[in-house]
Amino acid sequence: MTTFAQRMPLASALEQAVAGELLARGHTVEPFGQALLAPSVRDGLRETDSVLRWLPDLAVMTPGRRGLILVDAKGCQTSSTPNHAIELRSLYATTLTGLPTFYVCQDRKLLSPLDVSDSSEPDGFCCRRCWDLFVLDPMQLPKRCPEHERRQRRGSGTPYVLIKRARCRPLASVFGEVV
Ligand SMILES: [Zn+2]
Repeated sequence: MTTFAQRMPLASALEQAVAGELLARGHTVEPFGQALLAPSVRDGLRETDSVLRWLPDLAVMTPGRRGLILVDAKGCQTSSTPNHAIELRSLYATTLTGLPTFYVCQDRKLLSPLDVSDSSEPDGFCCRRCWDLFVLDPMQLPKRCPEHERRQRRGSGTPYVLIKRARCRPLASVFGEVV
């Protein structure tokens, strides 16, 4: 039996911590997304804009439930803001898997991509143009938001949408209590 850390040497500290939370609740947790790929394939993918780069980090198998749930550990720069920023390309990738997916935020609360895509108008976004592209033609989303460039803001400039923290659900509502 190998430990999760041995199976997932590329995982960030946050991913390992989230995996630990889910293991403590009796789930089976395995690496997913880019962790499944050979290093040369990962390198090749890095040269592309493929949504495969944005697949969730973890696959979670729940006792007594068929199939699996995908989980993406979501780092937040500041916990003091009222919103979570979710990268639009990550959001698009989750819609393609056909699997239930949750972001687990640093405060260990859950966000569902459906919380964004079900609302005709999100809580906020980097700019209207990126949001319209996400809705109409997501493969055309730019690497950097044009509005971010125009205002010469710092940071990666990746197109994003905002979700109010109030929409988050407790971890236990989907993954149960620690056993
Ligand atoms: Zn934008």
